[in-house]
Amino acid sequence: MTTDKRKIRLATAWLGGCSGCHMSFLDLDELLIELAGRVDLVYGPLVDAKQFPEEVDLTLVEGAVTNVDNLQLARIIRSNSRVVVGFGDCAVTGNVTSMRNRIPVRDLLTAVYRQARAPIGEEALKDLPALLQQALPLHQAIAVDVCLPGCPPSPERIAAVVTALLDGEPVALDAAMRTFG
Ligand code: SF4
Repeated sequence: MTTDKRKIRLATAWLGGCSGCHMSFLDLDELLIELAGRVDLVYGPLVDAKQFPEEVDLTLVEGAVTNVDNLQLARIIRSNSRVVVGFGDCAVTGNVTSMRNRIPVRDLLTAVYRQARAPIGEEALKDLPALLQQALPLHQAIAVDVCLPGCPPSPERIAAVVTALLDGEPVALDAAMRTFG
């Protein structure tokens, strides 16, 4: 990935997840300063960009694919990114987000919104992006190049994987997991 002098175009995306993986990314602390010298952060919750850009080198995707908006964004990410990383257990396996999969969507919406203490009206419900019948791990929606597990992945594990990818080295995830637990 480091075949020329230009900065790597890095994106992060937040699908059906709790943002904990992004919080762990922020815990990279001083490595963020080093990263800033090597990458342009072109999309994600930390960037004021409305559309996912073209020609992205590396995209970290947090969360499962759980509604139609997630699915549309995942497909755009795949077609516009050279390397896609499933970032955290929700992206890798479905994890917490997929716990709703045993409940029919209509029953789920009733329990969460219609029977809530402050119920949401049917008109407002129509404005929500439609849930897929199942929350999918990212690889069931698009091709994924690297899986970065953890709930959330530790900053050390994120650093090991992102640094390897930026350096054009193989991702030694086993080593990262052994080293950092
Ligand atoms: Fe949150 Fe864990 Fe899912 Fe990351 S993997 S989005 S920390 S629940």
